[in-house]
Amino acid sequence: MSKNKSSESVKVVVRLRPLNRKEESNGPAGGIVQMDLGLGQVILRNPRAPASEPQKTFTFDGVYDANSKQRDLYDESVRPLIDSVLAGFNGTIFAYGQTGTGKTYTMQGAWMDPEKRGVIPNAFDHIFTHISRSQSDRQYLVRASYLEIYREEVRDLLDPNHGTARALELRERPETGVYVQDLTSCVCKSIKEIEEVMNVGNQARAVGATDMNEHSSRSHALFLITVECSQPGPDGRKHIRVGRLNLVDLAGSERQAKTGVQGERLKEAAKINLSLSALGNVISALADGRSSHVPYRDSKLTRLLQDSLGGNAKTVMVATLGPAPQHYDETLTTLRYANRAKNIQNQPRVNEDPKDALLREFQNEIARLRAQLNHRKWRSKQKKEQVEGDGDESWERDGDEETEDEDLEVEKDAEDYVKLEEQRLERETEAIRGDQFMLAEEKQRLLGEKERMMGDLRKEQEATEQLTAKYKAMESKLLVGGKNIMDHTNEQQKMLEMKQQEITEQTRREREMHQQMLAQDEETLELRETFTSLQQEVEAKTKKLKKLYAKLQCIKAEIQDVNDEHVRSRQELEQTQNELTRELKFKYLIIENFIPPEEKNKIMNRLTFDTEEDQWKFQPLVPAESKSSQMKKRPSSAVGYKRPITQYARVAIAMGALSRYRAENIMFLELDMTPPNAASLDRWTEAEPNQSSSVDSSPTKDRGVHKSRSWCQNPKSIPSSSSNVSLSACHTAAAAAQ
Ligand code: ADP
Ligand code: MG
Repeated sequence: MSKNKSSESVKVVVRLRPLNRKEESNGPAGGIVQMDLGLGQVILRNPRAPASEPQKTFTFDGVYDANSKQRDLYDESVRPLIDSVLAGFNGTIFAYGQTGTGKTYTMQGAWMDPEKRGVIPNAFDHIFTHISRSQSDRQYLVRASYLEIYREEVRDLLDPNHGTARALELRERPETGVYVQDLTSCVCKSIKEIEEVMNVGNQARAVGATDMNEHSSRSHALFLITVECSQPGPDGRKHIRVGRLNLVDLAGSERQAKTGVQGERLKEAAKINLSLSALGNVISALADGRSSHVPYRDSKLTRLLQDSLGGNAKTVMVATLGPAPQHYDETLTTLRYANRAKNIQNQPRVNEDPKDALLREFQNEIARLRAQLNHRKWRSKQKKEQVEGDGDESWERDGDEETEDEDLEVEKDAEDYVKLEEQRLERETEAIRGDQFMLAEEKQRLLGEKERMMGDLRKEQEATEQLTAKYKAMESKLLVGGKNIMDHTNEQQKMLEMKQQEITEQTRREREMHQQMLAQDEETLELRETFTSLQQEVEAKTKKLKKLYAKLQCIKAEIQDVNDEHVRSRQELEQTQNELTRELKFKYLIIENFIPPEEKNKIMNRLTFDTEEDQWKFQPLVPAESKSSQMKKRPSSAVGYKRPITQYARVAIAMGALSRYRAENIMFLELDMTPPNAASLDRWTEAEPNQSSSVDSSPTKDRGVHKSRSWCQNPKSIPSSSSNVSLSACHTAAAAAQ
């Protein structure tokens, strides 16, 4: 198998959206973007600049104007990438641009209209058509996941509890790179199934967002498809190749106003474009080629796309533009961004036999189930033959040699055996029932035995059925190539597509050559020129000088632009920083003035920063190891019980009486039956001398402090915890209390 270790650059194509009705009615005629499809150039006019100012020109791997068809973009720029994914490469397509310029239209399009279906549905078609047409010795497993990144949180769009579920975490494995932990992944067997997955995710996205437009322009949506293919290699063993495809619809690239917001909104504002600006920084660092540090870890998006930018993947970026003059700045920024991305070099390679291939697990599991099932069925068959009295075959044969017919025969035999066995057992049961000479007890016993045998038989049958169902479900998940290989129309279709592919390839090459020629032209012109007179030479050189001067002006303007942009973004960052500092001061104020210093220190000592999750976390109060040893040791009074219990409960358990109080920590106290001994003030005593005798009897009278008598009772009247108090005494006390 070929292993391509050479590097290749990120492919960048630009797509222009047509003017919409509103723009048509209020803007000056036409847009500010022109395209040269043959050369792959975008020419941008500054609506505010004087006509003499030169226009800005950018060259890309492909440009698509307002009249371009979804299909053209797919066939020319995406198809080769999907083919690579099917061959085991990683691939990424991401749409970048201002909100409303057609990112979602390009990625998804209008599903119902075949003409307007975007990259994602076309890719579904492509993948499953490829599988159905491939050779029959190949097995495929296709999985899909769908997630979004909103406010720097990764959310699983296929999780039924999407709205309430916790944000997912990113993890890294040396072999597969960065992945999302616990992300739902659905095995898809057909275009319909994978479309359903997409729909479910889109609905979750719409439900999660109160204002869909706002939400979709602020969140990144990633649809991930993994295609695993197993194919026998020259060594006779099955080899698995895994292609991973990321289809990314990014958040709108326009600058969000971050100033003047507070609290939650500030936090959100700080996070909205964090991923996007981190993406910009990553692209700059990679395009620059000199910076040793690429800030992938700055955001979730860049971490997830780490392989797609400068790593093991083939990547296509679709930059979308709007034609309206009022968006000149944004359009220019998008073009600059896209222009920079062209310089990123990736090192794609085929992922062959990775350890975590799910297909391998599936194959092993299917083989295991098949062996189990065969064993069961052959056993049943054998028994049937024994019942019929002609069995000498063994079930142990090479599983691979079995034909489907044989399988069916075994299955039929097994079913026959179960039926025969059932009939036999029923017959025997009847016979036992009818036997009048048998003892009743003996009869009962035999009947019971037969009943049990019948039960066993049914259980076995059920187990076999379950096993078969499991086996079939597992097997149906694997797609086998070559189902339609003999289909004539398909064959023709395939040829047609191949021809089309050749044509698009030809156009692409032509465009590349054109671009190269143009670049060389300027150099060779000089060499070809011979001057007959001095005058001619002066003229020619003046012309050239003018040309170069114009170029110089262009570059100067460019530098000015870049500087302006830099200043603008710095100002914005400073403003954000000021807001954050203000927020920080506010928090400090609260901490310093309202939290006791020792509490603060305690909390500070427990805090640690988790770089994986990019969050501060509390360390547990009790270290993990001491916790486990603490938990193991039970108090001696609770050995054998759920928890420590009173002596009374213990005795109650031993007596088996009063089940309500068994194992309860209830203590019985003798009820104090003396009349309430309320405090009486001296003046009352004077006013009502006839009551004085009862007051006199109070032992606390002199001090003027009155206690309930029960507090002064002799300990002997508390029976609860002394073991020698008989339970009957307690019962009387309890009865008296009720
Ligand atoms: P984004 O996802 O970039 O915010 P959308 O894809 O939602 O933008 O596009 C905004 C509008 O423009 C939609 O109504 C879409 O149908 C329309 N649109 C975008 N691109 C095209 C195109 N190439 N052709 C026709 N309509 C388009
Ligand atoms: Mg969108």
